[in-house]
Amino acid sequence: MDLKGKTAIITGAGRGIGKAIALKLASFGANIVVNDIPSSDYAEATAEEIRALGVEAIVVKGDVRNSADVENLVKETLDKFQTIDILVNNAGVTRDTLMLRMSEEDWDLVLDINLKGAFNCTKAVAKPMMKQRSGAIINITSVVGIFGNAGQVNYSSSKAGLIGMTKSVARELASRNIRCNAVAPGFIQSSMTDTLTDDVKQQYFNRIPLAKFGTADDIAEYGKVYNRPGALY
Ligand code: NAP
Repeated sequence: MDLKGKTAIITGAGRGIGKAIALKLASFGANIVVNDIPSSDYAEATAEEIRALGVEAIVVKGDVRNSADVENLVKETLDKFQTIDILVNNAGVTRDTLMLRMSEEDWDLVLDINLKGAFNCTKAVAKPMMKQRSGAIINITSVVGIFGNAGQVNYSSSKAGLIGMTKSVARELASRNIRCNAVAPGFIQSSMTDTLTDDVKQQYFNRIPLAKFGTADDIAEYGKVYNRPGALY
């Protein structure tokens, strides 16, 4: 795939799946905007790794929950690269516990980052993409948004919501040649899953037919989705 001269914004790209996607898109020639939360310790190092591949990379920190931060992300991207060809809504968090113990704060936090954050970013890139009459938006959802999962009522709701958002955005923007797709990973080794207990990891493992956990690179390999017409669902 040739993405030479294209610009990709990846949210939460400092580490994990977002970083792997950023490196993969850079390997196809895209210039990269690394977004991560203001306190991220990883964003600059990730941008350095990307630059070593021979493309340009900038870091624009900002919280995807905050629409002013997201407006700034889009502004800085356009100031530097003039176009936005790809947005990957990857930033996400978990706050797992059984529903009866789940606080309102943990519900709001997960929905705000995982779902509202993707809405903020999608809305902000839609205008320049519509003007360009081209663009690709990729939402990183999860298998638990499809199947559900005990202990993840907030997270699975946010990811199911993201699937609905993907389908609706695809319908709204298709006539402007803007595609919106979702990728739904299963269990992927990252800082998000590193914190789970061995018992919980074993329970996930027992449900995986291939009998191995996925890696961030496995998800980045789904590069074909960046060129896929229409929504996956
Ligand atoms: P991760 O290693 O924790 O990476 C998440 C990234 O998002 C981190 O860089 C984090 O910053 C950043 N982030 C968190 N809140 C943010 C905010 N408000 N604004 C901007 N950036 C923010 O997790 P991951 O496993 O790579 O997850 C990436 C995506 O894949 C998430 O949407 C997740 O739900 C999804 N996913 C993961 C799995 C899995 O098994 N790992 C499975 C299915 C789907 P800090 O590093 O500073 O915390």
